[in-house]
Amino acid sequence: MPARAREASTLVTEKREFKAIKGTRDILPPDSALWNWFEQTARDVFETYGFRDIRTPVFEETELFARSIGVETDVVNKEMFTFSTGHDPDSTGESAPDRTYSLRPEATASVARAYIENEMQTLPGNAKLYYMGPMFRRERPQKGRYRQFYQIGAEVLGQSDAPAIDAEVLEMLVVFFKRVGLTRTTLYVNSIGCKDCRPQYVELLREKLREVKDQLGPDSQRRIETNPLRVLDSKLPQEQPIIAKLPRISDHLCAECREHFAKLNEELGLRGIVYEENWRLVRGLDYYTRTTFEVTAEGLGSQNAVCGGGRYDGLVELLGGPPTKGIGFAIGSDRAILSMQEGGKLPHLPGLAVFVAWMGQAAYPTAVNITRKLRTAGLAVELPAEEMKFKKSLGLADKLGASYALIIGEDEVASNTFTLKRLADSEQKKLSELELLEYLESERRGSR
Ligand code: AMP
Repeated sequence: MPARAREASTLVTEKREFKAIKGTRDILPPDSALWNWFEQTARDVFETYGFRDIRTPVFEETELFARSIGVETDVVNKEMFTFSTGHDPDSTGESAPDRTYSLRPEATASVARAYIENEMQTLPGNAKLYYMGPMFRRERPQKGRYRQFYQIGAEVLGQSDAPAIDAEVLEMLVVFFKRVGLTRTTLYVNSIGCKDCRPQYVELLREKLREVKDQLGPDSQRRIETNPLRVLDSKLPQEQPIIAKLPRISDHLCAECREHFAKLNEELGLRGIVYEENWRLVRGLDYYTRTTFEVTAEGLGSQNAVCGGGRYDGLVELLGGPPTKGIGFAIGSDRAILSMQEGGKLPHLPGLAVFVAWMGQAAYPTAVNITRKLRTAGLAVELPAEEMKFKKSLGLADKLGASYALIIGEDEVASNTFTLKRLADSEQKKLSELELLEYLESERRGSR
C-alpha cells in the first residue's frame, strides 16, 4: 500500500468530528431559500437585459489568473488555492508538462478564456453573459470575508466600448439591487484611464509617493514600487491626509478617456442613476481600463463592498484572443444577502403549504393520492410516513411552518371529503376534492 493510502487508512479508524474548513460554511434552510430567490431574481433581471448564463470550471491554469488579474495583485500573489498536476493519474509521468492549477478567485478571466476558446467573437452582436457560483481566495476570514464565497457576475464582450454599454450594465445592477430590496447602497464610479494615459499617471503617482514614503505604512511603501494605484485604496487613518494631496487621475486622462467618462456621466443621468464620483476607486485587479465602479451597502462593517466592476478592454487580447472590448461586474452574494438580513427587509418566501394529518390506515391511501395531486398543482406538501396522534400531527405542522393542515380521518374517508384547517386562525372548512384543489390553487396564486 502506498504511504499516502496507509496514512489515510490509519486516520479513518480514529474517532473524530469533522467541521467545515475555516473560511467556508454551510448555507442551510431557511437561508438557502433566500439565496435561491436572490440568484433567481438575478437570472430574471439579467435575462430581461439580454444576458445569458455561462458556466465555466471552478479551476483553471494558474497562469490564466496570473496574466489577467496581475502577478502583483494580492489575489494572485497570496490568495490563490493552487495545486500542481504532479499526482494527475492521467499524466504520462516524466514527460507530462508541469502545470499548476488554481481554484478560481473570480470568474472574469475564465469568461474571457471561454470567449476566446469558443470563438464567441463570431457570434452575432455582443456576447452578454452572466454567471453565478463559488470563488476561492485564501484571505483572513472575518465577517463578510470567506475563503469560499459566492459571486454573481455579468460581462459584455464585443467590438464596441460605447459608454452606453457601461451605463446599461450599471442600470441592470441598480435594477437588480432595487428588485431584491437592497436599497441602502451607494454606487461609486470612476475612470482609471487607458493604456495610453494611465502609465504616465502611475509614474507621476509613484514619484509623488516616493517623496512621502516615510510617512506611509509598510503595505503602501511596498506598493509604491509594485502597484502604486493600490495605495489609493488604503484605509489607514494616518495615510488619508497624504493621499488627499496626491495627483488625481481625472486631471491626467487623455482626451478619449475624458470624453468617454463625460459621456458615461450623461448616459447615467439619462437613466436616472444616482452615483458618486470617487477618484480613489482604482480596483485591485490589473485588467481594468477606464470605467471602474463599486457598490457599498450598510450593515457590513469594514467589508462593505457588495459589488465591484469595470471595463477591461485589453484583457481578451492579453490572453491571446482578438482585440475585444469588455465590461462587467461581480456581486458578492454573501455580503449582499448579509446586508439584506441586517437591514431586516426580506421577501416573504413561500414555505410549506399543507401538512397532511392522516389518521387510521383506512385514510392512508386517500392521503397518498391527494398529496400527489396537490404537489402536481405546485403546492409544497408534507406527508408523514408513519401514523401520528392528531395533536402531535398538528404540533408538527405548526413547527414546520405549514399554512394548512389537511385532516383525513375516519369521518372524512366515510363522507369522501377533506377537512382543511388554516393554522394561523384555526378556521376549518369541509371540502370535496375538487373544491380543495381549487381553493388551494387560488390561494397559491394569490400569495405569489
Ligand atoms: P472583486 O472580485 O474583488 O472585485 O470582488 C467583487 C465582490 O465580491 C466584492 O465587492 C465582495 O462583495 C465580494 N468578495 C470578494 N472577496 C470576498 C471574500 N473573500 N468573501 C466574501 N465576499 C467577497
